[in-house]
Amino acid sequence: MPYPPYFTEDHDQFRETVRKFVATEVTPFVRDWEEAGEFPLSLLRRMGELGFLGVHYPAEAGGQGADYFMSVVLAEELARCGAGGFPMAMAVQSEMATPPIWKFGTPEQIERYLKPALAGEKLACLGITEPNHGSDVASIQTRARREKEGWVIRGSKVFITNGPRADFMTLLARTTDAPGYQGLSLFLLDLNRSGVKMTKRLNKVGMRSSDTALFYFDDVRVPQEALLGEEGRGFYQIMWELQGERLIAAAGAVGSAQYAWEIAQNYARKRQVFGHALQGFQTITHLLAQMATEIESVRQLTYRAAWRFAKGEVPTQEIAMAKLATAQTAYEVIDRSLQILGGHGYVSDWPIERMWRDIRLNRIGGGTDEIMKEIISTTMGLKT
Ligand SMILES: Cc1cc2nc3c(=O)[nH]c(=O)nc-3n(C[C@H](O)[C@H](O)[C@H](O)COP(=O)(O)OP(=O)(O)OC[C@H]3O[C@@H](n4cnc5c(N)ncnc54)[C@H](O)[C@@H]3O)c2cc1C
Repeated sequence: MPYPPYFTEDHDQFRETVRKFVATEVTPFVRDWEEAGEFPLSLLRRMGELGFLGVHYPAEAGGQGADYFMSVVLAEELARCGAGGFPMAMAVQSEMATPPIWKFGTPEQIERYLKPALAGEKLACLGITEPNHGSDVASIQTRARREKEGWVIRGSKVFITNGPRADFMTLLARTTDAPGYQGLSLFLLDLNRSGVKMTKRLNKVGMRSSDTALFYFDDVRVPQEALLGEEGRGFYQIMWELQGERLIAAAGAVGSAQYAWEIAQNYARKRQVFGHALQGFQTITHLLAQMATEIESVRQLTYRAAWRFAKGEVPTQEIAMAKLATAQTAYEVIDRSLQILGGHGYVSDWPIERMWRDIRLNRIGGGTDEIMKEIISTTMGLKT
């Protein structure tokens, strides 16, 4: 059934298509990918062939020209594979590393980076965070110095999703010696350039089907045309990028919470304890009702923020609220779902333990809970 006012029958059909794809081509293999520490690149190409990677990009960019809510559907449905890693890697590809290319890139950059990325032929990553600077983006130290032929990049980036196998990075670097948010710029960096050193593949508590890298850039020379958008505008450009990133993270968290709830509800219906179905105990039915209410409230917050974003607004405060609330709610819902499954929830025969580990990242990545509260309190004028 269409879910007005945000979704139409087209969205429902797309939801069905993605759900089938996830059930047949992702879920049965995700445990192997988790053990391998990466998803297969053939799945990236498959996502590209199916048009999933460029769903809301226009045809000139190599996309499908659909509306933003198709991407919301995709994020919610990918979460139903019961693992966060693969969906996160795809979100980096379509909603983090590439939107700035479409928004700020030249026609040549669109041809060379965006189109192959949306086709699943090139793997993209986004480089903002550094070993000494994460939340405080304005303080990053990776330096790009102008020289006659182009730029020389020196510095380090950490926690880079897709990094170990990525073809290029959308990179934030400092282009002046002045500290602060002015003087940052974006670059498109081919990762096969001399001086790019992927120094470590990071081991993580969750999101294991997504690979994560630490990079060191040892005087990497790039041409003038590696600059993405206007020199000195990188901070503003990346703040814009983060809005879409947080919204898609919020939609994915709603999908994860919903999926965990369904697993818990199904389990409670079938599981017999003390001669009764678990769901017959009011503690459990009330808990499920409470969880469903919490999921629905953050779902509505997310949809409303997505609706404003789709209209071209940048509702920073509402997006921060959606990111904060979905991350916390999904974390709580999955934790309670694990509890409902008892011991079965804690072992890897069921996806809940993995979802429980994976969802923890939503309270950190793309801006922590505390940073979301900073944004909300600043935009509400609460800070003195
Ligand atoms: C698995 C994974 C994948 C990631 N993928 C990427 C990626 O692809 N690209 C990328 O660039 N980054 C990526 N990140 C980085 C992520 O966005 C950062 O970890 C996050 O922004 C927090 O930065 P930090 O880890 O440096 O923490 P810090 O900024 O050092 O913060 C440490 C703690 O201090 C708190 N804190 C900071 N400032 C304040 C304040 N003003 N008030 C109160 N508390 C505060 C934080 O909330 C946090 O709890 C990834 C991280 C992980 C773990």
